[in-house]
Amino acid sequence: MLNIIVFGAPGSGKGTQSTLIQEKYGLLHLSTGDLLRKEIALKTDLGRIADELISKGQLVPDDLMIDMIDKAIEEKTATDTYTGIILDGFPRTVAQAEALEEVFKKHNKNITVLLDLMVDEQELIDRLIKRGQTSGRSDDNLETIKKRLVVYHEKTKPVNDHYKKQNKHAVVNGSGDIDEIFERVCNVLESRV
Ligand code: AMP
Repeated sequence: MLNIIVFGAPGSGKGTQSTLIQEKYGLLHLSTGDLLRKEIALKTDLGRIADELISKGQLVPDDLMIDMIDKAIEEKTATDTYTGIILDGFPRTVAQAEALEEVFKKHNKNITVLLDLMVDEQELIDRLIKRGQTSGRSDDNLETIKKRLVVYHEKTKPVNDHYKKQNKHAVVNGSGDIDEIFERVCNVLESRV
């Protein structure tokens, strides 16, 4: 079992690297951002709440997120067998990290490693502005990007400590060419299996 948390600031390449990991290792890729955007498209109650918060650069409340990830693991692993899970965008708070322990215990799983993709702040902003030209996302504009970075530093970055204490934290240089970054990611994963 290879259960990976792909972690980092907005624009650090979590989605891109998760897709590459998924293609190479055949794991289940769960992106909480993508799951929320599906809820928004379906106009569900959760979607309505998420829509407002996402466009303001704020986080969706922990209880809703924990429930969502628990159900997603339950549903996806009920019909298909996977050799592991990639969590992309979850956990984003210490409370979510703590709740994840319980969710994983329930599903008989363990986190293998958290990959912390490190990218300079200016590069993050440049990447997100560029993505905003084609993504159609309500949060890829300069004003919201700045808010998302503040939220990342205040609420999300402390999640690292939770995994450092468990020796499950690995830093990956997230700057440069996508394939080069992926090679660094694979080196970490192969050293952990
Ligand atoms: P992402 O696609 O990962 O950049 O997520 C887009 C937005 O969805 C975030 O800025 C949050 O508003 C919301 N979101 C995604 N994952 C989480 C989470 N684990 N906890 C709270 N909010 C989340």
